[in-house]
Amino acid sequence: MADFRPTAALRNDLLAWFDRHKRDLPWRRTRDPYAIWVSEVMLQQTQVATVIPYWKRFLERFPDVTALAQAELPEVFALWRGLGYYSRARNLHRAAQAIVSTHGGKLPSDAAALLKLPGFGRYTAGAVASIAFGEAAPLVDGNVARVFSRLFLVEGAPGDRAREKKLWALAEEAVALGKRPGDWNQALMELGATVCRAEHPSCLLCPVRSRCGAFAHGRVDELPLARVRAARQAMQVAVAVCRRGETFLFARRAEGGLFGGLWELPSVEVTPGASHAQMADALVRALGSSARVGASLGAVKRVLTHRALTLELFEVELARLRAMPSVQEWRWATAAEADRLGMSTAMAKAFALARDAGQRTVRVSGSRRRGSKVSVARPPRRRPRGAATGPMLKERRADP
Ligand code: SF4
Repeated sequence: MADFRPTAALRNDLLAWFDRHKRDLPWRRTRDPYAIWVSEVMLQQTQVATVIPYWKRFLERFPDVTALAQAELPEVFALWRGLGYYSRARNLHRAAQAIVSTHGGKLPSDAAALLKLPGFGRYTAGAVASIAFGEAAPLVDGNVARVFSRLFLVEGAPGDRAREKKLWALAEEAVALGKRPGDWNQALMELGATVCRAEHPSCLLCPVRSRCGAFAHGRVDELPLARVRAARQAMQVAVAVCRRGETFLFARRAEGGLFGGLWELPSVEVTPGASHAQMADALVRALGSSARVGASLGAVKRVLTHRALTLELFEVELARLRAMPSVQEWRWATAAEADRLGMSTAMAKAFALARDAGQRTVRVSGSRRRGSKVSVARPPRRRPRGAATGPMLKERRADP
């Protein structure tokens, strides 16, 4: 059996194809290491088409490392909303601060130094070092892993340590075989994204078909082995909608964990399947005995990579706030101000529901003329069993 390994001929074929067919992406028109770094972080787990407008907005607002380092984290989160994986934004911000404080605001130019910065794993360090600085640094992402698995007949399933080790060894060997390390790494990823796709790879259009082990052995459909995905966990959260005039109460979560550091309507995780009464109890336990939980305002569902998230909204009135370990900061904000807070997409949708529920209430009770605009389905205003039964309390003191 032929030995399928990286060779200079393979590199030449792939680079020639890349030169002719590479997509015109905005971060490929710059040599700015900072702009390239931001693109690499955004592209992890996210499609190119989604990333482009985010990248442009981010670079407009934070044109260099110093601007990002000086920004408030919630503003960074606000620009990140919709990309998910907020820890990436947090690490980007932390790394920018570290670059300003220890590298004079300039990204270090080699993978070893980059790896010491927050959020830089082997992939990001290899990508920035090779693309922005021309270092012969290897990288392996999902696309490269799939291409290598097929080209070089790498066995094993994603997540298998022996397979990962082999893939990185191949990447190291291949990038060291010639010049243009950044283009080589990008060419591999480009091939994986556009030709050697997970489903229905276009082998007949492939520039390295004659050097591909899986094609030669008729194993394209079986390599790489499919990842055994863990079932998504159900996650249910009871959300408190506290109003004061035109403003709503927001909490900024403590750092760490899912949604750490992000703003949200005050919330508490409950057991999946919890009843309205159980959710009301959980809100009272979290917010304190002065909380009066009123009607349900509906629910927002969102599927994350590993979780199926349900946010259940309730009207809540609070006479006073008490400290919550999960909250580092409180704020009353209008809808316009809330738009600039760093919230997750799920929470932003929940807030839109809460805001619209408030508007519907105003229209229904204050004006019959525009009542026909009430078009969003609203759940029956059930009062959870065990929740407040009298009129809800007006807030009196202890403004957060
Ligand atoms: S021949 Fe097919 S399987 Fe092999 S690298 Fe090209 S697209 Fe991928």
